[in-house]
Amino acid sequence: MTTPVGETTCRVCRGPLGEFLDLGRQPLSDRFLTEREIPGEFFYRLAVGACASCGMVQLMEEVPRELMFREDYPYHSSGSSVMREHFARTAHGFLESAYAGPDPFVVEIGSNDGVMLGAVRDAGVRHLGFEPSGKVAEVARRRGVRVRTDFFEEPTASEVRAAEGPADVIYAANTICHIPYLESIFRGVDALLAPGGRFVFEDPYWGDIVEKTSFDQIYDEHFYFFTASSVRAAAERFGFELVDVERLSVHGGELRYTIARRGAATPAAAVAETVERERARGLTTPDTLRRFAADVERVRDDLTALLRRLREEGRRVVAYGATAKSATVTNFCGLDSGLVEWVCDTTPQKQGLLTPGAHLPVVPPERFSTSYPDYALLFAWNHAEEIMAKEQEFRDAGGRWILYVPDVRVV
Ligand SMILES: [Zn+2]
Repeated sequence: MTTPVGETTCRVCRGPLGEFLDLGRQPLSDRFLTEREIPGEFFYRLAVGACASCGMVQLMEEVPRELMFREDYPYHSSGSSVMREHFARTAHGFLESAYAGPDPFVVEIGSNDGVMLGAVRDAGVRHLGFEPSGKVAEVARRRGVRVRTDFFEEPTASEVRAAEGPADVIYAANTICHIPYLESIFRGVDALLAPGGRFVFEDPYWGDIVEKTSFDQIYDEHFYFFTASSVRAAAERFGFELVDVERLSVHGGELRYTIARRGAATPAAAVAETVERERARGLTTPDTLRRFAADVERVRDDLTALLRRLREEGRRVVAYGATAKSATVTNFCGLDSGLVEWVCDTTPQKQGLLTPGAHLPVVPPERFSTSYPDYALLFAWNHAEEIMAKEQEFRDAGGRWILYVPDVRVV
């Protein structure tokens, strides 16, 4: 690994961390702001390292959670129809599973706007969400979902266990990778999970990020980049066992990990197979990590060269989807409003504000359809099919999409 970092150690096992990618000075990815707020904007250094002992890929610097998951956290899980279907399937999978008892209790960590637990509630099943962000928790409550506005950790999990009994399923989608203090999560799971219960979580997969060079999955909220190997090692360290893994296509490629108490279940063949595949690919070897960093720099150079050329040719370029991921792209590649006019987004709370760090104006989607640009840079590339189908008229009018995962290309 290229840059040895003296005192930095793995957040899971305290092994030595080797930094392999520096994405520079970055803002909070979800902190959209007004012109007046620019002077006080918070920045940190976004860099990634891998643990030489347990293989866990993680950020070198941690952003305090209070700064990220605050009251008005703007992300809503149910924004996309693909995700709504995904979570409905997930809920039904739990309710039909062998480990759900006769009166199952389903707990979700980071229940967001209640999209998954809403389906559990509709089935008349006991449930509880943990959600630290008050506003999205309120959205879930309006759907009839029970939510506790709190972080999930040992004391809060123990309180729930005492009041409501053990949980058959503890689930988390795109949440566990946000949490540096993984040990505290596992202690909470230990306090609340039934003896035969399952802790199931899904997060962006490091194997997909390497394969697609999707470096925009790296931002403040994504602290860990899991592999089956690193999750298996972490689970063992905390007294649990990885008993299944499943590939998911959502959010640009994820793995779903199913964890049981040690000895409570026989691991599925998929666990050993996935770990072996990761070993054969050398997913966290210094060579792979160096190559990944070089690929990221190539994408940055290709994207900025394309956008500069289009500007010289007098083309209008806008961006589509002011995602959290796009903060990494705009700030790492230096995309200012000279290169990208504005970004349109369907989230009303973001409209009228500026994007973090790069300060691109966020406009409502109507602005896109009333005056089509020549090119649209698709930040929400993980929803590309859904968006391109919806915006067919843009293509029909001669518009072109710019994609940058896995390579920069115009379609
Ligand atoms: Zn480690």
